[in-house]
Amino acid sequence: MLQQTQVKTVVPFFNKFTKKFRTLNDLSKSSEKEILKMWEGLGYYRRARNLLACSKLLIQNYNSILPRSIIEIKKLPGVGDYTANALLGLVYNEPRIALDGNVKRVFSRNLNIEENKINFDKFIKKNKKQLFVTRRNDDFVEALMEFGALICKPKDPNCLTCCLKKTCKYFKSSKKIKNIRNKMIKNKNYDIFCYINKKKQIALTKSNQISFLKNFNLPEIKENKRSFKNQNWIFLKKYKNSISNLKLNINLYYKFSDKIPRAYSWYSLKNNREFVPSFTKKIFRQVLTLF
Ligand code: SF4
Repeated sequence: MLQQTQVKTVVPFFNKFTKKFRTLNDLSKSSEKEILKMWEGLGYYRRARNLLACSKLLIQNYNSILPRSIIEIKKLPGVGDYTANALLGLVYNEPRIALDGNVKRVFSRNLNIEENKINFDKFIKKNKKQLFVTRRNDDFVEALMEFGALICKPKDPNCLTCCLKKTCKYFKSSKKIKNIRNKMIKNKNYDIFCYINKKKQIALTKSNQISFLKNFNLPEIKENKRSFKNQNWIFLKKYKNSISNLKLNINLYYKFSDKIPRAYSWYSLKNNREFVPSFTKKIFRQVLTLF
């Protein structure tokens, strides 16, 4: 839940989730529909799907026990190097470092070398004697991440009160490195077509192939390369939406109709039994300006 999401946003979702699913077994018996409904509003829904798939796999193939081998852990859906190392450290107290953005920055500053010039795997292997000096490896994994988030922050690190300042090359250097993270932003243009009715409902379907929202409830959506002209649809407005590193330029069209294609069902902005992603809720808010 915490990937790309702040703690304060996650807390109510985490509490609700762990109250409902008390054991791995409870989670594995849930359905994708149910789990997505609980995740509604948290975004990055692939995490929810992966979590459910992980619970099923752990029960079926691993006797409900997290594997100890990094190769096996990385076979679980959505688990890469970072999560695998974090799990081995936190669950099995193995000497591991979970290299997220915060931890990379801490190392980079201590060495006063830009992140993209460091081979972190090599560095950790070479310095493991100096790095892993505690038996509390689980706390060490957590502490490093917290240290990066709270002390050696991206902007304005707390150097004056930092316990590493005596050895930190960034602090001592007159030529401090700059770590600039360039997020690759992609621009895409989409046309969205909404069937709407007098009850302020929009017809949605799960049969769409839009990669970032595949199989979610959406109106008809098409990537557009040229300007669209079709007299059956009325242009409502242009607006922008961002999803992860995608910047979407959207042209929204609508038509009032009681008849809708077979794969569609009517939905309202609130109180749907099925999960509706924030992306679709934003479409609702634009359409509701018509009423
Ligand atoms: S002294 Fe400053 S730059 Fe160095 S580790 Fe501490 S907070 Fe980070």
